[in-house]
Formats: sequence, C-alpha cells, structure tokens
Amino acid sequence: MSNPVITLKRGKEDSLNRFHPWVFSGAIAKMPESIEEGDIVDVVTHDGRHIGVGHYQIGSIMVRILDFGATTIDGNFFATRLDEALKLRKALRLDRDDNNAYRLVHGEGDFLPGLIVDIYGNTAVIQAHSPGMHFARNDIADALVSLDGINIKNVYYKSETTLPYKAHLDAQNDYIIGGFETNVAIENGLKFHVDWLKGQKTGFFVDQRDNRSLLEHFAYGRKVLNMFCYTGGFSFYAMRGGAELVHSVDSSAKAITLTDANVELNFPGDARHKSFAEDAFKFLDTMEKDNYDLIVLDPPAFAKHRSALKNALRGYQRLNAKAFEKISSGGILFTFSCSQAVNKDQFRLAVFSAAAQSRRKVRILHQLTQPADHPINIYHPEGEYLKGLILYVE
Ligand code: SAH
Repeated sequence: MSNPVITLKRGKEDSLNRFHPWVFSGAIAKMPESIEEGDIVDVVTHDGRHIGVGHYQIGSIMVRILDFGATTIDGNFFATRLDEALKLRKALRLDRDDNNAYRLVHGEGDFLPGLIVDIYGNTAVIQAHSPGMHFARNDIADALVSLDGINIKNVYYKSETTLPYKAHLDAQNDYIIGGFETNVAIENGLKFHVDWLKGQKTGFFVDQRDNRSLLEHFAYGRKVLNMFCYTGGFSFYAMRGGAELVHSVDSSAKAITLTDANVELNFPGDARHKSFAEDAFKFLDTMEKDNYDLIVLDPPAFAKHRSALKNALRGYQRLNAKAFEKISSGGILFTFSCSQAVNKDQFRLAVFSAAAQSRRKVRILHQLTQPADHPINIYHPEGEYLKGLILYVE
C-alpha cells in the first residue's frame, strides 16, 4: 500500500463490507498526521485487512471509497469508470439525433463519489463535490475527450460553489479543454439554451426528462401552470402535448429570460405561452381559483441538510396546500421534492397533510423518481433524491 493508510476502529467496517462507500469520522481509529484533503488513501480494518481505496476529506464523511480493491487511482482508473458509465447511457439510448442532454456520471451511482458529469452535445460539464475529484479534474477531462463512442470536444469545470468552502481550493469555473461552441441542447426533440457558464447546477435539470415526457401525455387541452420553471422544461412538453395555455413562473428574472428564449427556439410567437418573474407563494396566493387544471410544483431543495428537515417539510406542505386550494376540479398536480434529506415517505406525508387541509378528494396516479441516467447504487440508498407524485384532484 503506497497511499496514506486510514485505520478503522474495531467493528466499524460492517457498512463497508456491504459496499456502502462512505467512511464517517467516528469510525476512524488512526491516520497519519501528514494526510491532506484530497489525498488518495487506503482504508484498513483495526487488524490491518485492506478494505478499499478512496478520497480523504475533512468533515463528517472522511473517506469516499472509489474502489473496494487495491486499485491504483490514476488516469486509467477514470478512463475505465467513465467508459462503464457511457456503456450504461448507450444502453439507455440517450445519445440520439433528437436527444443529446443527459447525465454521464452520477456520483456514487456510477461508483465515482464526489463527481457529476452532464453532457450537452459536444460539451461535458464537470462538477466536483470533493477535494479529491477537484485534484483529479485534469485526468477526468482527458478521459472524457478520449472516450470511444462519443465526441466530446469541450470540458467545462463548474465547481466554484460545490466544493467544501473550508478546503480553500479556490476553484475557478472555466474550460479545461476547448471552449464555448453552441449551447443549444436537445431533449426528446425539444431545444434548450443551456447556460453552463452562469446557470444553476450544470445549466439544466436533466433529471426531469422522463417526468416532463409524462406531463406531455397529460397536457392535452389543459391550462398549465409550470411553477419553478427555470429554463421552462415542463412548459414545452405541455405545449407539444396540446395544452390550451401554459404559464411559466420563476422568481429569477434570468430564468424567465431563458424560458422566453426557449419558447422562441421551439414555438416561435406561440401566444399560448406567458411567463412571470414572481415568487411562487405570492403567485399562488394572489391567483384566482380554477385558473389552472394542471399544475407543476418543482421547487429547489427546501432541505439541503438534515438539520433543516422540519422546516422543509412544513414548506412542502404549505406549497402543496396552496395548489390543492386553487387547482380546478378534475385537475392534475405534478409535485416534486429534490431534497436528499427528505425521504419518499416524509414527502408523501407532507403532501397528504396538504391534501387533507384542502379537504378535497385526491388520488395518486403515478409515483415518480429520477431517470435511469441518475442511477442509484444499491448499496448507497442515499443516492435516491428525486421524488414526485402525479395527483388527480376532484
Ligand atoms: N422545473 C425546472 C427546475 C426547477 S429548479 C426544470 O424542469 O428545469 C428550481 C427553480 O426554482 C429555480 O429556477 C429557482 O430560481 C426557482 N425558485 C426558487 N425559489 C423560488 C420562489 N420562491 N418562487 C419562484 N421560484 C423560485
């Protein structure tokens, strides 16, 4: 073992034996003083049995295991893991003439904890969530442009806000390879300006692709309110599905500018669409009852950490209660939570409480989750973060 060695306390290897990829600080008996954040480390049991190799960082999760073997973590390692990730996306048929936006790497779900890679045509956008992945960024970028079966020319690194700020890595958002080309991505035949330079996350929410498709089938003849629209994703599926009118709302003026630009890309001059730069709660409070018979609620994560859970659940209840109060009879509500800290049952309970508060008859039509390019490592259930319900409101 040539890496610094982290020794676990007796009995603290159980979850690792079940391939859960995190080592918590409380599990560690000893480690070398010279160890630095982002180092590649070997993890061993109290009696010296090798468990795996991973990235070290300071925090409650101290090691993220990259491999449960004695593998060398280098450019070849990343090339192999990225190749496996691409194989899965090929099996999902996500790179087609009419679809070139998808997630290539979903952290633990692709056995690369701390790393996100989204693809928009010829551009890959990387987000590092750990110092180890930050230090590996050039190896990752080289491996991306060398992948067989996909033609990546530009690699944009966007980790200014995702790395732990205490690590003082001063990451700059910039191209590692190539530069700006076109930023129009295609999802199921619809076009989107993706702002990976300044936009939220990697520039687009690829995780709602399947749920947007479902909405298309429900939209015919309906009056649609797309709340928390960001770049307008759900709105264009609704328009293609034959909605009578589509209103997109987001509190960010920049998001509304993007939505308007995307209307022009897909449905130029279509008078069915209107957008509003307004706060969701205010909009729902002041709008008339029965204005809409299809409402989408896709808010940002209300709980970023477990400590915020209670307030988050109250927030989901309050938001959904407003929608139940105002939606037309026979209305359909698409409601989501992308907070990792909120589990499926907690989210459902918040929506249940909101429904009961409105005293309306409500039925669950579909239970939604994240798409297959955001896979969940079966040994890491925390990877399931997106939850949604399609509800029928009498
Ligand atoms: N549904 C979108 C993604 C939503 S992301 C899609 O399919 O791409 C969450 C969005 O909520 C962001 O664009 C953010 O600007 C917006 N937002 C956050 N707080 C808000 C509020 N109080 N009212 C309205 N929009 C809000």
